[in-house]
This record gives sequence, structure tokens and C-alpha cells, in this order.
Amino acid sequence: MSNGAFANGDAAPQTHTPSQRYLSTRGEDTGFSFEDVVLKGLANDGGLYIPEELPTASDWQSWKDLPFNEIAYNVLSLYISPSEIPAEDLKDIVNRSYATFRSEDVTPLINLQDNIHLLELFHGPTFAFKDVALQFLGNLFEYFLVRRNEGKTGRDRYHLTVVGATSGDTGSAAIYGLRGKKDVSVFMLHPKGRVSPIQELQMTTVLDSNVHNLAVTGNFDNCQDIVKALFADPEINATHKLGAVNSINMARILAQITYYFYSYFALLRQQPETFKLGDKVRFSVPSGNFGDILAGYFAYRMGLPVEKLVIATNENDILDRFFKTGRYEKKPAYGAAAEGGLEKDGVKAHEDGVKETLSPAMDILVSSNFERLLWFLAYEFASSAGMDDEWNKKQAGQEVSSWLNDLKSKGGFGVYKDVLEAGRRNFHSERVSDQETLDTIKSLYKEVGYVLDPHTAVGVEAARRAVKIFSANTHTISLSTAHPAKFAGAVEQALKDEEGFDFEAKVLPEEFVGLDKREKRVRDVANDWEAVREVVREQVEEEFKAAGY
Ligand SMILES: *Cc1c(COP(=O)(O)O)cnc(C)c1O
Repeated sequence: MSNGAFANGDAAPQTHTPSQRYLSTRGEDTGFSFEDVVLKGLANDGGLYIPEELPTASDWQSWKDLPFNEIAYNVLSLYISPSEIPAEDLKDIVNRSYATFRSEDVTPLINLQDNIHLLELFHGPTFAFKDVALQFLGNLFEYFLVRRNEGKTGRDRYHLTVVGATSGDTGSAAIYGLRGKKDVSVFMLHPKGRVSPIQELQMTTVLDSNVHNLAVTGNFDNCQDIVKALFADPEINATHKLGAVNSINMARILAQITYYFYSYFALLRQQPETFKLGDKVRFSVPSGNFGDILAGYFAYRMGLPVEKLVIATNENDILDRFFKTGRYEKKPAYGAAAEGGLEKDGVKAHEDGVKETLSPAMDILVSSNFERLLWFLAYEFASSAGMDDEWNKKQAGQEVSSWLNDLKSKGGFGVYKDVLEAGRRNFHSERVSDQETLDTIKSLYKEVGYVLDPHTAVGVEAARRAVKIFSANTHTISLSTAHPAKFAGAVEQALKDEEGFDFEAKVLPEEFVGLDKREKRVRDVANDWEAVREVVREQVEEEFKAAGY
């Protein structure tokens, strides 16, 4: 498999993999179709799906003047066989997915300071980067369901019941991706009173009849446990087809590859003096579940010249600890959790040891998509022994299985030096504390007048450190994952003492004004998975009746 090779300037014809198939990171199972992968989410052996072959975009340089949608199509068509989704259909899905964005560029790039640039990913319906993936995923679901339901009527139709837990961002982006879609119901569980006011309003003001907001008396972990119990329950699985939209869905990763290419080309247009086609760029990515930055790794493997992918974590720093030590360990970020307390010295930690930070969308104990990178690193290691490809793939799957088993049974695992070194060739990690996050918001506001959201600030601080560690001449694209108005608390905390700072005038988008006066639809439920199961049944039944089924 090739990596950053890009020297040849001739645009070779685009290599359409005749039939791109997928395999599980943990097993010997191969040959899954893209449709299976999208609708199932997680493989039967507990692994995650990855492409059997990472495609090379041999003509990527010829994409440089294309609009976002066409780059998206070119990227996706390397992963999705035309026999599964014909070209015209895929183009249509892509076009509809990004027509909902407020910026003509979809994901505009702006210069922040010196050689640091911000890739604004928050111009979608819910003002966070997850829209880039979930607008696409919603349309994909619809496409597959329409096809499966051709000629079927009433209760014979394949009806998908999406169930998810959210602490904020995923929920609203998933709801906006699925609202009004035929043959899909979506149930989104959030901890009652524990998501930010804007995020709660974004979810509960969506009134489409297929959208069901459930406010659980409990915390986020309780919501997640309920969702897990439902997926494990034979009864509901016998009557309802449950679907997931969480960040392990392969389609979400694929949709995120586009903006790595797109921003590279935007930089060419904006910095013609210092940045030429073929030059390397650095990306800094505020990371939680490792989905966003994994898309950057795929872009690199496809041929994009990337110097480093900087993983920016908050105080939930399992990824940073891995890249520093070679050990991937659940060790709680805050000791209180280990002692069973939820609050100590005013710092909150969840029961499982996740710390509540100012960048809540990155508050994780383990990063679910990291397993995918581990597979690629294990595969590279196996390949260095020079056996045949099938053997190497099996070997990688066994390695990943045993690591993940150790994570479950022993709370962690270590990898060989060669594996760690392979990871470090492409990745660098930085951990940014809450205080450093606030300082970064403050300093960028003072220096250039730009207001960063706290997640983006974590990325920018990591980008600034990387400039000092690596070359300052290399341009750094720092991913901006949310609009600052979504995280008003942290922004106000950082900027309250700045003279003349007025949140409403400076930050609040017009779309958020008056949201609190709109009609809401939300149902309170107890922290009891069987009660939630009852609500799911009842409400799907109601939808069927309303549709005349
Ligand atoms: C989800 C999210 C992240 C983390 O992205 P991962 O793909 O989980 O690494 C960062 N910032 C914001 C605002 C998010 O919503």
C-alpha cells in the first residue's frame, strides 16, 4: 500500500476500486458490503469495519480547483462501489447533504495567525463539525431504505429505529440528519438538565414526528447503559431493527476525509507565495473518539502530503498517554472516580472516571475509533515480516482482538516499540488542560479578535506547541469543530473580563435568538431500560398508525 507518494504530476485516471469491500478489525470476517457496514455500525465480533484496501487517489492533484461537493464525490467513490451506489445517485446524496450548510465553501478556511489557519467545520445546521458526517449519513440511510422498500407497503417495509445517547453534540447533529426521513425513527436519550441549554433546545425544538427526545433522570453514563441494554435485548431486536449513528459508523469517517483535501487546496489559493502543490501541511485536531483525525490519516494514506497529524486532547488524555508511553490505559483522568466519588475539590468526574471538562464533546475514557488505527499499525507490523497479504490481515485482526481483550479485562495494554514508532511517524499528541483552554480563548481574542469555542481552543493550543516542536514554516490547519455560541459557558468564563466583550453582539448567531421561545417536544423517562423499551415500542407504533400502517 502506498502512502504519501505524490511526486508524479501527471494525473492518472481515477482508480475506481471495482468492488470495495470491508472487514472487521477483530476477526477473520471479510467481504462486507458498504450497505451492511452503514446499517449495522458494529461488526458481530465486536470489531469495527474498515476498508479491505485503503484506496490511493492517484489523481488527487487534479481536484485542486473543484468545489467541496465534487471533492466529496471523488473521495467517496473510492470507498463505495458504483455497483452499490451508482455515480449519479452518490452525487445526488452528496449534493443534498451539503446544500444545508450556510457557507458556500461548506467548510471555509481562514488565516488565524502567522502560519496557523482555522478550518471552520461548524457551518452546518447544528453549528458543529458532526453535521458534515451526519447530514450525509441521514441521506444514506434514506437511500438504502427507499431501495429496500421498493414495492413494499405497510408493516412489510423495513423500518429502522435509531437509538442513541448524547451528552450534546451528537444528538442534535443526528436529529438534524434524520428528521423527516421516511422509514426511520430516532430516539435520542440525554441526561435531563445536564446538557448545555443551547444543545437541549437544538434537540427539543425539532418537531418532526419521527424524532423522539427522551430526557433521562440520570447522567450520561446511565443514558449510554440504557442504549447498550436495548442493543443487547433479544426482545426488541426481534421486533424492531435497531440502528446506530455513533461515531464508529464508517460512513461518518469517510465523509470527514473530504475537508482534509478541500482545506489543502484552499491553502494553495490563499498562500500562493509560501504554499505549493505537493508541499506538506500539518493538521491539528481536537480529539475525543478519534473519528475526525482518523479521517485525516485516511487522507494521508490516499496521497495527501501531511507532515503530522496532531492529536489534541483535553484532560481526558488516553490518546496523549498512549503516544507518550506506548500504553493504552483506562486509568481515570481524575482520582475521585476511582474512589467512587463523583465530585472532589469541586471537580466533577463520572463514575467510570471520565472527567467533565470545558470541552465536553471530547470527554471520553477510551477512544472508540482508535481501534481502527491500531489495526493499520498492526497490519504494517505484520507486513514487515513479509508474509502474504491474507496472513498479514489475519495477524492484524488477532493482535487487535487480544489488545482489546486486555483493555476490557485488565484495563489496558501496551504495544511493541515498532508499532508505537509507526504511529509516531504520522501522529503527535498534546494534552491541553482546562486552564490552558481558557488562556487560549483569551489570548486569541486579544491578539486577533477571534472567538474560539473551547474544543477548537484545545486544537489551536496544540497547533501552537507543534509549531515550536516541528517546523514553523510548515502551515498548520487547525480544525475548528464547533461554533463558540454552543459553549457559551466556557467562552464567557474566558472573556468576561475583556473590556467591551459582548457575547450576544459578538458571538450569538441569529439562528439561536428566540430558540427558547419555540415549541418543544421532549418526554421524561426514568433511568430504567425496560421503561425506555416500552416508550420506543409505543411511539413507533404511533408513527405506524399515523402513516396508516
Ligand atoms: C465530537 C466532537 C469532537 C471530537 O471528535 P472525535 O471524532 O470524537 O475525535 C471535537 N469537538 C467537537 C465540538 C465535537 O462535537
